[in-house]
Amino acid sequence: MRDRSSVKNDMHKQTACPFCNPDKSKVILANGHAIAFHDGFPDTPGHSLIVPKRHIASFFEATREEQAALFDLLAEMQIMGSTEMAFYESCR
Ligand SMILES: [Zn+2]
Repeated sequence: MRDRSSVKNDMHKQTACPFCNPDKSKVILANGHAIAFHDGFPDTPGHSLIVPKRHIASFFEATREEQAALFDLLAEMQIMGSTEMAFYESCR
């Protein structure tokens, strides 16, 4: 069971995390559990990120619902013309 300091630490991470609080002007798409936005420091023109709304360290920590939401946005982004994808482990 998690103690109060662990919960407080997670809340701090979430408020400070750029993935949990992307610039609203960069948001491309969103659904119930995920959000897609333009990368503030793009590797290539048009580089974008698709992340869960909940602060987690890895795709593999996402629930099935969150994973489905991430793939739904990925499919929508592909339809919009983005064809490459990669999974990144965050530094959380
Ligand atoms: Zn976060």
